[in-house]
Amino acid sequence: MALSGLAIFKLLPKTNCKECGHPTCLAFAMALAQKKVGLDACPHASDEAREQLAAAAAPPMQTVTFGVGDAACTVGGETVLFRHEEKFHRPTALAVTLPDDLDGPALEARCQRIRGFAFERIGQAMPVEAVAVTNPSGDAVRFAAATEAAGATGKAVILVTQDAEAARGALAKVGAAKPLLCGATPETADAMAAAAAEAGCPIVAQAADAETLADLTQTLKTAGCDQIVLHLDAADAWTEMAGLYRIRTLALKQSCQPLGHPVIALATEGNPEAQAVRASSLVCKYAAIVVVDTVEPWALLPILTTRQNIYTDPQKPVQVEPKLHAVGDPGADSPLMFTTNFSLTYYTVQGDVEASRVPSWILCVDTEGTSVLTAYSGDKLSAESVAKAMKDADVESRVSHRKLIIPGYVAVMSGKLQEETGWDVLVGPRESNQIPRYLKEVWKA
Ligand code: SF4
Repeated sequence: MALSGLAIFKLLPKTNCKECGHPTCLAFAMALAQKKVGLDACPHASDEAREQLAAAAAPPMQTVTFGVGDAACTVGGETVLFRHEEKFHRPTALAVTLPDDLDGPALEARCQRIRGFAFERIGQAMPVEAVAVTNPSGDAVRFAAATEAAGATGKAVILVTQDAEAARGALAKVGAAKPLLCGATPETADAMAAAAAEAGCPIVAQAADAETLADLTQTLKTAGCDQIVLHLDAADAWTEMAGLYRIRTLALKQSCQPLGHPVIALATEGNPEAQAVRASSLVCKYAAIVVVDTVEPWALLPILTTRQNIYTDPQKPVQVEPKLHAVGDPGADSPLMFTTNFSLTYYTVQGDVEASRVPSWILCVDTEGTSVLTAYSGDKLSAESVAKAMKDADVESRVSHRKLIIPGYVAVMSGKLQEETGWDVLVGPRESNQIPRYLKEVWKA
């Protein structure tokens, strides 16, 4: 946990020698607490002070990487309880199960489906990062074969088994791909830790409560495992959510280092709808990895959308490049309209223009990622800024007509914009979903 200025001051020599460039040790301590300077600027700080400050500066939650190359997946390293305090740093990894009791064709079909996942929203790819191989067969050979198939999907691999022999067999197949071994219980810790340490793979500590998990992480560390993920094996969803909140609070607010690890959670029970609801809740609080049992795209999409929303920086709206975008294959006589560079606004408009099947030009105006009304009321969208965007994008060379469709919500700027540009300004619909009707009935008329 970060130290306050006064706590840092107590560790300094208090000689006020000014060699650090500050008039007093207290002034230096305050600057250090605000991360404006480093301790190295004080040549007289004791070794003890350096050690204590280094420990305080260590991140409260470890980052863990499993998978290698393009499949590498890094989770954890979070610093806050609530997104609005700063931001969440590493999006939850989504994993889909691959049970080892599937027969050959069914196993291959599921792998193919997993390989084919390609989701995109507001211009951003939303990948499914991992395959979690489960061991319902209880057979080490089948588990190893399923693990090999999982490795061939190009995703990171999670090995879900309580059987150390099965774990070793699987690690022999894909150990170089650095899978996550899930997991070691207090009963199996020694054997599982030995398998993970030999392969150099991260491991999951699994227990029913935070106290046992804290003890277990210490056991695993002593056994040579330095990359650890937690799995709270709770009796029900409510106990799990409450437990995950408590673990995050203890790790971040009370510097409980044995609990300062990312968490994996399984949302594999129930129908796909139930899994989607539970997984989305776990993305919010506070799973770094979520495993689901469904491969239905419609069930995965809400989980991925939740993740995308939670893991954006609340201080920085997601933005689209401000320029002239082509939708379809527009020509010189195609409609030209503008909207703002707030991603959600732009992609909503783009989707509705696509749905109209009328090839069009969309001029994306830089409003620092704010929506039409917000930008207009905040002086980030004006007749002048639209005219400048038109000039910068050289729209005159792209269309032969001189007509610009503007969002209905800013109809008030039409007169000024007409004066600024000399173009005919057509007031379009207020709601984006009315664009197809507008283009077909008004523009074409
Ligand atoms: Fe204090 Fe160190 Fe700065 Fe001297 S160099 S004033 S001892 S903080």
